[in-house]
Amino acid sequence: MLKVSKRLIAVTGMRDIVQRRIPVMVLDSKRAGPVVWLTGCIHGDEPGGAAVIQDVFKELREMGLECGAVYALPLINSTGFENVSRFINSEREDLNRCFPGDAKGTAGQRIARRIFDLILETRPALVIDLHNDWVQSVPYVVLEPRSKFLDQGLRKRVVEQAATTDLLVVQEPESTASTTLTGALTESGVSAFTIEAGGACGIVESNVSAGKAAILGVLEHLRMVARCREAGNRLLDSIHVLEYSNQPLCTTSGIIRFAVMPGEAVACNQEVGRVYSAFGSVEETLRVTRSGYVLGISDHARAMPGSEVIAIAEFTNSESNTWETKKMKARPQ
Ligand SMILES: [Zn+2]
Repeated sequence: MLKVSKRLIAVTGMRDIVQRRIPVMVLDSKRAGPVVWLTGCIHGDEPGGAAVIQDVFKELREMGLECGAVYALPLINSTGFENVSRFINSEREDLNRCFPGDAKGTAGQRIARRIFDLILETRPALVIDLHNDWVQSVPYVVLEPRSKFLDQGLRKRVVEQAATTDLLVVQEPESTASTTLTGALTESGVSAFTIEAGGACGIVESNVSAGKAAILGVLEHLRMVARCREAGNRLLDSIHVLEYSNQPLCTTSGIIRFAVMPGEAVACNQEVGRVYSAFGSVEETLRVTRSGYVLGISDHARAMPGSEVIAIAEFTNSESNTWETKKMKARPQ
């Protein structure tokens, strides 16, 4: 059985009370091949990635690694994890907005730099950053916006790799910050994407299984593991990148009730929810502007003007018109 190397590395570059160490796991086949990184819990209140990584490593120890190596940072934000917080400290620094980092910068920038260098020096073929989303959400892959890819060959490779997860694949809007781990890696020419592995708030075992299956699918595609599942269970007929959307936003305040569930297909102009006043009258009916799939719905019943309450994987306008021909074979899990 393959042995997992485990170590703790110092990440802040300081020796005073704010020094922190984070766990690193490595499974090395000792044969030439791709290096894949898995990172989890960069947001301390999204612990699902740590469980996914642990289960992937357990599986790999048993089934073996054909070639290359898998590296993992299962629990990057230990302070956030302890405090059940997205942030790394009381300054509310979001580590996933600090990349590529700065060795002499803020605590977040120092940690980011250390992690970024650690990953880059292994010349990775792919980095998968694991997050969690709203409690009621399906697992899905998020790609960086098209403009962040220096060459379209890299984007093509990332799309192919993302498709082998068998999850819905969406692309971030162009307005997305590039200071995320995957954003900074993409700008450095490294294949990287995010998996939103279902809801945060404790470990949901079905989401852990989905995340593990997604990663094993990618490793199979890279020929790092032997065939581990049946081919042909793609959700869509072809490799398809949809657009991430947080529309419609609420324009009124009240109590929101949804008419759809995560994973459901929605047609253009379909009602997805209503906002009710305290007396029960309908203040607003929310409708999607394009067809697609519901990724997740808000954790909160409270609607306010401008509130984001739903996430949709949308087809583009032209695709939306021919949506019937692109219908899913099956609903996401
Ligand atoms: Zn996150």
